[in-house]
Amino acid sequence: MRYSIFSLLGHALAGNRRWTPAWRDAAPKAGYDIVIVGGGGHGLATAYYLARMHGITNVAVIEKGWIGSGNVGRNTTIIRSNYLLPGNVPFYEWSLKLWEGLEQELNYNAMVSQRGTLNLFHSDSQRDAFVRRGNSMRLHGVDAELLDVPALRRLVPFVDFDNARFPIRGGLLQRRGGTVRHDAVAWGYARAADRLGVDVIQNCEVTGIRVERGRAVGVETSRGYIAAGKLGLACAGNSSRVASMAGLRLPIESHVLQAFVSEALKPVIPCVITFGAGHFYVSQSDKGGLVFGGDIDGYNSYAQRGNLPTVEDVCEGGMALMPSLGRVRLLRSWGGVMDMSMDGSPIIDRTPVDQLYLNAGWCYGGFKATPASGWCFAHLLAKDGPHPLAAAYRLDRFAAGRVVDEKGQGPHPNRH
Ligand SMILES: Cc1cc2nc3c(=O)[nH]c(=O)nc-3n(C[C@H](O)[C@H](O)[C@H](O)COP(=O)(O)OP(=O)(O)OC[C@H]3O[C@@H](n4cnc5c(N)ncnc54)[C@H](O)[C@@H]3O)c2cc1C
Repeated sequence: MRYSIFSLLGHALAGNRRWTPAWRDAAPKAGYDIVIVGGGGHGLATAYYLARMHGITNVAVIEKGWIGSGNVGRNTTIIRSNYLLPGNVPFYEWSLKLWEGLEQELNYNAMVSQRGTLNLFHSDSQRDAFVRRGNSMRLHGVDAELLDVPALRRLVPFVDFDNARFPIRGGLLQRRGGTVRHDAVAWGYARAADRLGVDVIQNCEVTGIRVERGRAVGVETSRGYIAAGKLGLACAGNSSRVASMAGLRLPIESHVLQAFVSEALKPVIPCVITFGAGHFYVSQSDKGGLVFGGDIDGYNSYAQRGNLPTVEDVCEGGMALMPSLGRVRLLRSWGGVMDMSMDGSPIIDRTPVDQLYLNAGWCYGGFKATPASGWCFAHLLAKDGPHPLAAAYRLDRFAAGRVVDEKGQGPHPNRH
């Protein structure tokens, strides 16, 4: 069923009783050319681009829960390509370009909203760092603008400019950044992949990876054994757990990150804003809730819930940026499990086990990467070689010293 204004009208006139499910509830077959473990944004996008770009449709996406139950449905929805390093900028810019055409491509309303992403800075050294970042973006053909305080006062008059402790000196704005409704991305890719013949299999947990003579040949699941010509892992926060089933130890730690939503307000925040004097970022959803977050909780965990000290820390950051937030009531908060890599950048690569491929290490920035990650992982699975845009995201870079340390913080997951 194609979605359009005409189908909407037709169904409305028919009493909305003839809508069909957005994708089939596929049962696992005995085997597939390619099996992808993890029905998050990255796994589903990979399956879609395998079918769409490479004509490979005998593909299954295996999800232990339901589509959208992982980080793809838990994140704070921010997309942007304001990166600094040459290994990162072209990849994230390609992702942003794919976001720009995604809804037409998938025939699905993902509420892509390019309302802008604004990074505030509060000191001379921070300004220098953002000028450098902006220059790097522009050299790569990415939009970036440096705003002074008068321009900021016009754009975001409600932030505390006169805070003596954290005076705002300016901001780096990427107008093409913004937000996308997170779970709609999973649903849109699932539906589009399904239409091309991919089996999206929910409630099917991978419990083991069968390796024969150094080659991955299939997965044991809660719904039986499934043979795989090639096996791709896109398990985000559970990457190290699943990779260990094939005897692999990944340079990844799992940490909790929380998200918060306030009660609905009238439109107040026009863009995504990040506070530079602490870790706090905020945007406003189309329903009116303020959506915000901050640092990871700071301890290893696979629990999808966080702790109170981090709630306090995030709210402190919000209050320092926008004191009027103190009057707003918090509606909901939740946690997701982050696959924190040792340099803060992802891995899209083959593994030492033949026919086993890895997509992981997205830390808390993987939502914006979803289209490009799927694009490049599909290329890797189809062609057996890295896509040029993901050439820096090799698994052996940690051993070889070719890290992609965007923040320059060293191998400390809690600081990336
Ligand atoms: C609170 C929070 C805020 C965030 N904010 C942003 C943001 O604003 N912008 C941004 O770019 N990124 C953000 N992120 C990060 C982003 O959400 C993730 O990096 C990205 O979603 C990870 O990729 P994914 O969608 O494929 O992951 P997931 O949706 O987690 O998909 C992985 C899937 O694998 C499944 N799985 C795991 N183990 C198994 C198994 N054994 N068998 C079968 N299936 C299995 C899981 O159930 C899960 O559904 C945020 C994350 C969180 C938690």
